[in-house]
Amino acid sequence: MELIELRDIQKTYHLGEVDVPVLMGVSLNVLRGEFMALMGSSGSGKSTLMNIAGCLDRPSSGQYWLDGGEISMLNATERARLRNRMVGFVFQTFNLLPRTTALENVMMPLNYARDNLTEHQKRQRAVALLERVGLADRIDHLPSQLSGGQQQRVAIARALINRPQVLLADEPTGNLDSRTSEEILQMFRQLNSKDGITIILVTHDPGIAKAAGRTVYIKDGLIEKSSSIRSGT
Ligand code: ADP
Ligand code: MG
Repeated sequence: MELIELRDIQKTYHLGEVDVPVLMGVSLNVLRGEFMALMGSSGSGKSTLMNIAGCLDRPSSGQYWLDGGEISMLNATERARLRNRMVGFVFQTFNLLPRTTALENVMMPLNYARDNLTEHQKRQRAVALLERVGLADRIDHLPSQLSGGQQQRVAIARALINRPQVLLADEPTGNLDSRTSEEILQMFRQLNSKDGITIILVTHDPGIAKAAGRTVYIKDGLIEKSSSIRSGT
């Protein structure tokens, strides 16, 4: 069953008088529970596509169903609410708040959720996630006191705090050495296979993409090819 269905998505940025067409009509289905890698050269539109898939941005035209609901019908508030409930983001540059502890960073998205959790419950949930990513002894550290790999673990815990169905990871290992990349990749694999979280992961590394069940290639704003879905990853 499809969790994500993008149909003929076009995206054009407008810079003053200049139109910058980026997505030229992308159609893509992602099944619930899939682990998909997205590859393509720099500037091909990967981040643009991820931002649309994650409801951070809107397409210029085309249709998008997320979990069966059509997104272009929603207003900004409804879209933000859906994003918070459904989607976790992980970025290449971690994007943690600098003067804020690991625990506070992980708890942050709960401020925008509509769960009626007490402060104590929020904290418990965040601590459990930091334990899950192997950072139980780092919860009061600031990002600057953590290695790149540890910061990305905090970012993954933060992405999971609202129990999303899909994780969108935009070059999550792009700033990490190969050993750390492998550890982070194992974490995504486990979240997919054990927790059933649907994952779309952008990468330039064919070795990383191999861990996914399917690789989709984008070129000049169009899906170029897609490998067939492998199960049992
Ligand atoms: P990728 O992630 O594959 O490197 P992007 O989706 O980031 O590609 O960018 C695709 C193209 O869109 C690039 O030419 C980039 O300069 C342009 N672009 C991206 N974001 C914006 C924006 N906010 N405004 C204008 N142009 C943008
Ligand atoms: Mg990008």
